[in-house]
Amino acid sequence: MITVEDLAKELHEAGRAAVESGATVAADKFGETARKFMEWDEISESAREGRRIQAKYLLDKFPAISCGSRTLTCVYCGMAYPQGTPTNGAQVLTDHIKVCAKHPMRKAEGDIAKLRKAIMDMLGGESSRAELEQMELLIRAAQVPDIDKTISINAIHALLETE
Ligand SMILES: [Zn+2]
Repeated sequence: MITVEDLAKELHEAGRAAVESGATVAADKFGETARKFMEWDEISESAREGRRIQAKYLLDKFPAISCGSRTLTCVYCGMAYPQGTPTNGAQVLTDHIKVCAKHPMRKAEGDIAKLRKAIMDMLGGESSRAELEQMELLIRAAQVPDIDKTISINAIHALLETE
């Protein structure tokens, strides 16, 4: 977050090359071609105040300036991304979302795991994909009402699709 004072100093610094090459209003007016640049601490308080007024004008007009150097952080856990990371499309963002402990996806993944466990238990315990597929064939061939077959087959498909 850049303050008025920081930006005022930057504005003063931004004038250094112009002063040293004679590209200033004073140069036009008084015919000076090049002049020693006076540092922030050397100029008068009224000159500094002039820079602060310019800085405030720019901050009011372009609020984005004040957060121009802000570090991008994860909104869920606060981890800081490397300087210069764009707000979207970067691989580093995608990679972090996969491992961020506080990302909403972690709860969704936990919920899916709980539901899978519950369905597995209903079908008789932990089963591999091959066992589930075998189970489906047996259910389809079994002499039980269609409604029971449908419920069991839907449960098997839910497990196979959320693996
Ligand atoms: Zn995070």
